[in-house]
Amino acid sequence: MLTLSNVRKSYGVVTALDGVDLDVPDGTLVAVLGPSGCGKTTLLRCVAGFEAVHGGTISLAGRPVAGDGAHVPPHRRRVAVVPQEGALFPHLSVARNVGYGLDRAARRSGRVEEVLALVGLPGHGDRMPHQLSGGQQQRVAVARALAPRPPLVLLDEPFSALDAGLRADLRRDVREALRADGATAVLVTHDQGEALSMADRVAVMNAGRIVQYGPPTAIYREPADPWVARFVGDAVLLPADVRDGVAVTPLGRLPLHGATPAGTVSVLLRPEQVRLTTVVGAAGIGGGAAGGPTAVVVRHDFHGHDALVALRLVDGTEVTARVLDSTPPLSVGDRVTVSVSGAARAYPTASNRVSLTV
Ligand code: ADP
Ligand code: MG
Repeated sequence: MLTLSNVRKSYGVVTALDGVDLDVPDGTLVAVLGPSGCGKTTLLRCVAGFEAVHGGTISLAGRPVAGDGAHVPPHRRRVAVVPQEGALFPHLSVARNVGYGLDRAARRSGRVEEVLALVGLPGHGDRMPHQLSGGQQQRVAVARALAPRPPLVLLDEPFSALDAGLRADLRRDVREALRADGATAVLVTHDQGEALSMADRVAVMNAGRIVQYGPPTAIYREPADPWVARFVGDAVLLPADVRDGVAVTPLGRLPLHGATPAGTVSVLLRPEQVRLTTVVGAAGIGGGAAGGPTAVVVRHDFHGHDALVALRLVDGTEVTARVLDSTPPLSVGDRVTVSVSGAARAYPTASNRVSLTV
């Protein structure tokens, strides 16, 4: 549906897009996930036609729309954009906002009420925008984007101005509405939870480039490098030596999956792979009940649904464990035994060093 090939865009000396390749299949929701300033909005603006590219090509449904001398104007690309907020015409009713881009026949066909129902607002056509909550206004903005059945819908951080409590429902409902309508969509966000929970595929972006593109599970479990690992979730990165395909780490010998560089590496674990057993009484340092190394709790961050526990091993290495339920509760100073479930991933230390400078 949408293909970007080596797309470049600069603002003066600032390179906003540094050779972006992206392929968005028909009927899918792709999230572009990256930190603020990495070029996400610029990418959307180039696809919508609000900006000209300086290199590379963009094609929509097989038709070149940008690059190689082509520049199809925005209204002829038929791409709908849902901005962060403030998208509605304040003096028009909800129905007239949604029907704005439709011809008379389409407005009479019931399409307005159909898309309002898709976004969870059936019967709201007569309201005025100021009578709606922020979340409802964003639902209307999505309905308006979907109404003319555009080949592609672009959403630029559409939930970031809303309360956390509202966002979860809205994400789910908007994803369902896009699916039910068979829409192809690109959602731009800096929120990893939003990208991983909503998208069929996630493109992780950093400094004007797509650094990894794949299904949410692969992005989280098989991050391309330590920078991606840290950006999409909590990460435990440990120094290690690989011998015979096994990583020798401060947490013991760990099996590896994926590509296994030899020699000195960084290994990645997720905190939910780090298991703790409370050491009862005065267990000696160096080996606890479960046979793993012992550690001392140095920090405990409670998050309601779980907690992150920071630990210091005897050799000074810090690791983080995610615990769902610590009964009896762990406190700073407690001694625990640490074990690891599942395999680790290894990265050459050079890629770790590069990513730390980003
Ligand atoms: P994001 O949406 O990921 O936060 P943007 O695409 O808005 O990032 O910006 C990418 C880079 O391009 C940033 O360094 C930003 O300052 C710069 N930039 C964006 N738009 C303009 C502009 N109109 N003029 C100059 N620099 C811009
Ligand atoms: Mg932006």
